[in-house]
Amino acid sequence: MTNTIFSGKCPQCQLLNDDVDMRQNNYPFWECPKCELQILVEDEKALILRNRGKGEFIYNLIKFNRECVLVETDSHSYPNGKEIIDTVHLEKYLKNKVQQSEEFTCTKLINSYVNFKFDNQPEDNYIKQSEHFKIDFEDNSIQ
Ligand SMILES: [Zn+2]
Repeated sequence: MTNTIFSGKCPQCQLLNDDVDMRQNNYPFWECPKCELQILVEDEKALILRNRGKGEFIYNLIKFNRECVLVETDSHSYPNGKEIIDTVHLEKYLKNKVQQSEEFTCTKLINSYVNFKFDNQPEDNYIKQSEHFKIDFEDNSIQ
């Protein structure tokens, strides 16, 4: 049951067996580059915020390296005192309370390109976004 402990990986992506390191965004919260889930760490608790981030990351390489219990927040992003006890609880909270992630956004298109080009990440994400928007940054005929 490692899913209900936050140790730097996105808990939502972990449910899909995808280990994604969360990064610091401008607020600064921890945000998943893939699904934009946001976490605020306060008093050794990892608060899962109900609204998603916008992919506006701080360009640092800091990774979260502690272990915190995941907790719910209310609609104003304050902790509501409920610890997330297992993956079923987590899934339910993500599905019913947290804003859903949009699969295709311009920010994701740009971030996936930057990740693939400059961060040695696989091209798949970028191709998916690129095909959706019919924009390919590798195509020199577009401005
Ligand atoms: Zn995620």
